[in-house]
Amino acid sequence: MYNPFSWVKSITRIALFYGLAMLVGWYFDALLWALAIASTALVLINYYHLVKLNNWLWHSKKFTPPDASGIWGYIYDGIYYMQRRNRIKRKKLGNLIRRFREGSESLPDAAVVLDADWHIEWCNRLARIELGLNWPEDAERRIDNLIRHPEFVKFLRNRNYDSPIEIESPTNISRVLEFRMMPYGEKHYLLIARDITQISHVEQVRKDFVANVSHELRTPLTVLSGYLEMLKESPEMPQSFIDKAFDEMGTQSTRMQSLVEQLLALSRIEASTERVYEKVVNVPQVLRTIEIEAQSLNKNKGHSIEFEVDEGLQIYGVETELRSAFSNLIFNAINYTPNGGKIKVCWGKEQDRARFKVIDNGEGIPEEHLSRLTERFYRVDKARSRKTGGTGLGLSIVKHVLSHHNSKLEINSDVGQGSEFSFAFAKQIIAIKE
Ligand code: ADP
Repeated sequence: MYNPFSWVKSITRIALFYGLAMLVGWYFDALLWALAIASTALVLINYYHLVKLNNWLWHSKKFTPPDASGIWGYIYDGIYYMQRRNRIKRKKLGNLIRRFREGSESLPDAAVVLDADWHIEWCNRLARIELGLNWPEDAERRIDNLIRHPEFVKFLRNRNYDSPIEIESPTNISRVLEFRMMPYGEKHYLLIARDITQISHVEQVRKDFVANVSHELRTPLTVLSGYLEMLKESPEMPQSFIDKAFDEMGTQSTRMQSLVEQLLALSRIEASTERVYEKVVNVPQVLRTIEIEAQSLNKNKGHSIEFEVDEGLQIYGVETELRSAFSNLIFNAINYTPNGGKIKVCWGKEQDRARFKVIDNGEGIPEEHLSRLTERFYRVDKARSRKTGGTGLGLSIVKHVLSHHNSKLEINSDVGQGSEFSFAFAKQIIAIKE
């Protein structure tokens, strides 16, 4: 800014003022008095301006400075321009902060800005939701007083922020958060928390799956190699032992075979790109072939099995998948119902949907197992399931088939009374029989 203040002008003004005072003093023959009065007046004028400046700076709401001439005018203008410059800078800074905050609000992660001693300087909306922080109440509070998980506190105190940590969310222990700490600027930290529940769940499922498959295959393999070793070391075993060994080896290899087949079926269904709405499946016919297989499986069990099938009800779908879903439920009912039970299989319309139902009067399944039955390898009674040749994959296959056909398995079971496994297809999937 151009400053028009000039020393020469200012000194000339003072000289003129004193010159005038001296002239008046000389005229009245009181030169000293005139000089004293002029100096006092000058001090008073300056004092008056100082008071005005003080009032303007501290008490006035006006942004524009009071009127003044001479050096005081320049001082007022200088302060005024300085304030204006600061105001513009502050506004720019404010806009920058606002934009930064808006940007951070749209982050898909919880973000918290911390100072060198981990006091909260700012946090975004997700941090309030996922970390349970209150804003602005928690401003200036230390983050380790608010998130007290021992792992988190250790992570902060170690001051080694190269790798993130995973702990449960302070607001919901069923969710897993990944915390990362990023130093920036002068001793500031940006704490980022990302919800990785889904990823860690998938990772856990993968680990469990590999562990389960290995375990399931190891048991029959151990039996097989055990018998083979015994037969090799002592070839002249009694015939009864050899017969038993071959029987057992046969059972175990069938078990392994059905496990591998079920695993392949499961991965085929999961990776299936076959379109559901392309081919019509003649469900009554599929059920007829399953009924024949069911009767042969039922030979040793002696259940009375009743099929109640709407012969005209066909649907769009993938036949191999649906066959596997129907047969899994029917064979389960046969296998898990104590001998001489009653099993009913229904296929028919229910309002505008098509419903498949398998009802048995077996032992039923305790409530706490119901939500986990469709997990891979989950069995209510492991030993019994193995005896029936079960792999624990049947209901998992059913779940995937149904999800491929936009449906869901519904299980109702009363301990001591029996179980009902059913699912319904939406009307869009029902094919009108020509
Ligand atoms: P599996 O191959 O062991 O039969 P599934 O996934 O088909 O595995 O079934 C999981 C578990 O659900 C079974 O081990 C059994 O304990 C239970 N289950 C399934 N169907 C029935 C049923 N109709 N009655 C009682 N329990 C059942």
